[in-house]
Parts: sequence; structure tokens; C-alpha cells
Amino acid sequence: MNTGLFTTRNIFIFCIVLWGFIVVRAMMNTKGTEDFVTTVSSSEVTAYAKAQLGALQERSFAEDQEICAVIFENSDGELGSTPLISGEMASCDIRFFDEPGMGPVASMHTHGAYNSQYDSEVPSMLDMQSDIASGVDGYVSTPGGRLWRIDAEERFTEQVCGENCLAQDPAYRPCESDEPKSRYSLDELQARMDDSSIRC
Ligand SMILES: [Zn+2]
Repeated sequence: MNTGLFTTRNIFIFCIVLWGFIVVRAMMNTKGTEDFVTTVSSSEVTAYAKAQLGALQERSFAEDQEICAVIFENSDGELGSTPLISGEMASCDIRFFDEPGMGPVASMHTHGAYNSQYDSEVPSMLDMQSDIASGVDGYVSTPGGRLWRIDAEERFTEQVCGENCLAQDPAYRPCESDEPKSRYSLDELQARMDDSSIRC
């Protein structure tokens, strides 16, 4: 029976219309950061990230998972953060969190427990590249208790504070021949990753 409202063709058209509606809704829900005027200063965001990441360090070591979230400013000019996401290589792409009524100001993530196989005392190239691509700064905490800020606009990363300024993994062992510098450009970080002579 192919008569009436529920013909295969009508159902097919209905699905197309529904799909179009969902796509348009999704497009209207995403907005650029430029639509939102942020009023918080960079030092306020840094202080917020330091407190949040500091509080996540021990859980991140215990679970040996990266934990990430996006820091945003709400329409009252207050800082908040999205629900935490944890995983092996937790990713908090800012584009998934850009909801109406909030302006993302930074991403942040921990680096899990100490592992001598990983150069986790500095941000990864992927960390830097994804923050630069999203145009929003990033904060990274390390097993050694360092805090890094990735400046998306100026394309460099710098230590906000050094070893042990946040909670440190008891298993952490500093690598004297591999002491991180206080600042890296993309090229300098890549050179560090390529240099296999300095691993502990
Ligand atoms: Zn990272």
C-alpha cells in the first residue's frame, strides 16, 4: 500500500527535512568567540586555571588519566568551567563547548601520572597546535607540578610556575639533563621532541 501520508517517498522527504532542521539548529548554536565580549583579564584566567588544575592533580595521578575542561566567562562576567572529561588523551576541543551565553577563554588539562616514557613536563605539540587552531589559550599541568600557559595568538608556551608549584606525583623523578626551559615556540618544542639524546 503506497497511498496516503506514509509513503516511502514522504517518509524519505520527512527525514531530509528533519536532518536539515537539525543541521541548521546545530549551526545556530555554535558561535565564534568574537560574538562574546570577554571582560576577565589574562591574570584572572591564569589564577582560575591554577586553582582548578591544582585541585585535579591528585585525581589525575591516581587514575593516570588526563582530565580536561574548558574555562569560560558567563554573561555576568564570572569564570566557570565545563564538566570534566577524562581519558587517555582527553581532548576538550573548544568548539564543542561554545554555547550561547558563554565565552570560552581557555582550555585546561592535566597530564596524568609520571611516566618516564613520556615527555609530559611540557605541553605536547598537539596541545599547542590545537590551542592555536582554536584561537584560545590553554593551560597544562604536569606530574612534576608545573603549570604551562599556551598563548594561542603569539604561538608560544611559557611556564606559569615551575616544578612543585602544583601538587606533584610522588612517583615523579626530575630529569636533570632534560630540564624544561621557561618558554618554547612551536619550533623549539618540536626540536625538543626530536632530540632523543636528552631522555632520562
Ligand atoms: Zn597535553
